[in-house]
Amino acid sequence: ITELKNYTQRLEKTVEERTKQLKDALETEKELNELKTKFLSLVSHEFKTPLTGILTSSMLLSKYTLETQQEKRDKHIETITNKVHYLNSILNDFLSVEKLETGKVTYKFTTFKLSKVVNEVIYNANMLLKEGQKINYPENIDDIILTQDEKTIELSLSNLVHNAIKYSPEKTTIQLNIHQDQTQTVFEVIDSGIGIPKKDQKNIFNRYFRAENALLSQGTGIGLNIVKTHLENLGGSIHFISQEQKGSTFTMIIPNTPNQ
Ligand code: ADP
Repeated sequence: ITELKNYTQRLEKTVEERTKQLKDALETEKELNELKTKFLSLVSHEFKTPLTGILTSSMLLSKYTLETQQEKRDKHIETITNKVHYLNSILNDFLSVEKLETGKVTYKFTTFKLSKVVNEVIYNANMLLKEGQKINYPENIDDIILTQDEKTIELSLSNLVHNAIKYSPEKTTIQLNIHQDQTQTVFEVIDSGIGIPKKDQKNIFNRYFRAENALLSQGTGIGLNIVKTHLENLGGSIHFISQEQKGSTFTMIIPNTPNQ
């Protein structure tokens, strides 16, 4: 009888464990399905608007004659180019996610002057500024040297700066601060834009997540997720503080030399 009792107890425990495993698996599958649906709706939505624009412009383009309507043609060519660039950048983000997930990312460490990266980021950002927007950045950083994956640092910084521009209204200033100490370099991107609602702050680095107040601007909710993964892979980190309708400060920290 004791043996039978022990056996029944063991059996009960096993059933309990298996039920929990099954429940977890079902929940994971549900989460995966939700993520898949979110992804598909994001892709269709994000691609549809630029594609419609490209289609319209290319149809109109063929209607204007080269001799008399050059200006209109140029405008439509510019629209097409911009939208193709945008689609290309989204595709690159998707490819990065895939690479990061499958562990196919490799980093190439070189020693470089940070001013080179900052100049490149500011040059590109200047083209995206809204009416009356301005970026302040440190110009005396010639002695800041990093041994890091240059492309990844540039991608991360430009992501933060582009977000600051995108989520801030016209006539605002974005401040970029950079400090280096013995071991690490700290970048701060400060904006006085729409900010992130308190309830959304915990999800901001989740893939495809976009805060409610951000939905008026284009975006995929992928950028910060990629940046965070890259920075952590390189031994760095990313943090933010934000207040809705006041602004946000994103801080990224990166070791001056690769971690062992
Ligand atoms: P995307 O900008 O394409 O939506 P990101 O991953 O770069 O994706 O950002 C995720 C979300 O974080 C954004 O949708 C937005 O809600 C919020 N966010 C990021 N940066 C800022 C910022 N500077 N100000 C306000 N909200 C921001």
